[in-house]
Amino acid sequence: MESEKEIYCTGTHHLVCPHCGEEQGCSDVDLDDYDDAFECPHCGKTFEYERECIALYYSRKGGRNDGSTPLWGPV
Ligand SMILES: [Zn+2]
Repeated sequence: MESEKEIYCTGTHHLVCPHCGEEQGCSDVDLDDYDDAFECPHCGKTFEYERECIALYYSRKGGRNDGSTPLWGPV
C-alpha cells in the first residue's frame, strides 16, 4: 500500500509544489507575489500560491553613510 508522502508547502522559504513537493524558484525564474495558475515544471500540474513579503529594517546611529557601506553585516 502506497502512502502519500507528506509535503511541506506552507510557510516555506521556497515555493513548493503541493503536488510533488518539488521546490520551485530557481534563480533564473522570477516569481510573482501571487499566481493562481502556476505550472510546476517538475510534474506539470498547476497550483496557486501566494508569497508573503517580510520587510527587514536596518538602522543605526549616524546618518553620514554615503551608500558605500551597507547597513547590514558585521560592524
Ligand atoms: Zn510538481
